[in-house]
Amino acid sequence: MVKSSPSTVAAASEPGAVLAAPLEAPALLVLPGRAGHRCSGGAHSTVGDGRLVCWQPATSARVAVDAELVHTPVPPALGGRWGSTDPLWVWPRWCATECVAKLTDTPIVLLARAGPAGEGPVDTPAGRVSWRVDRVGDLVVVLAVLSPRTS
Ligand SMILES: [Zn+2]
Repeated sequence: MVKSSPSTVAAASEPGAVLAAPLEAPALLVLPGRAGHRCSGGAHSTVGDGRLVCWQPATSARVAVDAELVHTPVPPALGGRWGSTDPLWVWPRWCATECVAKLTDTPIVLLARAGPAGEGPVDTPAGRVSWRVDRVGDLVVVLAVLSPRTS
């Protein structure tokens, strides 16, 4: 992981800057579980093993995070629909699709049926969703931000 000096903290309202910020505490936390965790404004994702990922970027924009265990086998139904059972291919796209679902208030089943999110960003009725994919230990983590339509 590349460390950046504190002076590179993202400008408040720039989605690109938010996504370029260093991926480390305190902005990103991976906790043993939800118990005892309190924060306001953080985006959260609960991993299959119970861990909680909390992302607290320096922005007022709407954000989302999704995380999966990178080596979890891909369910056959999902693999069949998306044409791959490779966890290293599916889970980053699944997490990105989950983030688009969260930020656009769209049921994940609808988006998953339509296919995996591409490289992004995607334009939606709610605005433009941009994201980045990272590995944090054994987790694939996608951080996403919604840029509302200005017109
Ligand atoms: Zn939190």
